[in-house]
Amino acid sequence: MGTIYAIANQKGGVGKTTTAVNLAACIAEAGYPTLLIDIDAQANATVALGADKNSEPSVYDVLRGDVRAADAIVPTQIDGLSLLPANPDLAAATVELARESSSDGRLRDALATVRDDYRYLILDCPPSLGPLTINALVAADRVIVPVQAEYFALEGLAGLLETLTLIQRRLNPQLAIAGMLLTMHDTRTRLSHDVENEVRQHFPELVFDTVIPRNVRISEAPSFGVPVIHHDPHSSGATAYFDLAKELVARG
Ligand code: ADP
Ligand code: MG
Repeated sequence: MGTIYAIANQKGGVGKTTTAVNLAACIAEAGYPTLLIDIDAQANATVALGADKNSEPSVYDVLRGDVRAADAIVPTQIDGLSLLPANPDLAAATVELARESSSDGRLRDALATVRDDYRYLILDCPPSLGPLTINALVAADRVIVPVQAEYFALEGLAGLLETLTLIQRRLNPQLAIAGMLLTMHDTRTRLSHDVENEVRQHFPELVFDTVIPRNVRISEAPSFGVPVIHHDPHSSGATAYFDLAKELVARG
């Protein structure tokens, strides 16, 4: 049975999608069958893997129960990496899920039918703590929290941790924090180092050893519809996401 990771932070632009796509690609490249599930209506992860942003069927149809997960999953250009795509319809799911009672386990139940086909399942969450992110956290075994190495990085983390505690208590006692991941770290700036120190001091033992550098190759890759390990395998960004994959796999 595959391990499900949610990549979550209610802040936008902190590197959730970048991490979901590149981590999934590196784990798959290392030989582990992996499924990336895009649950953001912006469909950035879907596009970053070369699929259509108006993919049909999508995770929206799966959440509605109209299509089985297995029938919405598509292969990608990366060996061993499959994708359950999002499309803009997913915006409606936020409203629909909020209106229906006991809809928190919808994604968990849908993924249960395909979980045995993969070793890792990675969920790219939207930038909110709305019903889609709650569904992801109920489905997940572990959560990775990307933290941008910028001023205000810690802002919002307390709220996120409170939400995680609440979900652990009420909906998913299994859920564990895999770690916080420092992203867009600029080794040349004092600020990046200060933020890293602060996050490590605040959350000892909860921060991944691997730090993702700010690297232009990482930001270019989505426009080619490939992860950075295919766009430029020798870039600092590709190396860092490989290191993160190793760190994760080593932990089991
Ligand atoms: P989120 O999913 O949290 O909103 P994204 O992964 O989409 O964040 O990242 C936001 C922007 O920052 C994107 O344009 C992305 O290409 C860029 N970006 C993310 N990580 C890096 C990095 N390590 N180096 C350079 N640019 C990055
Ligand atoms: Mg995103």
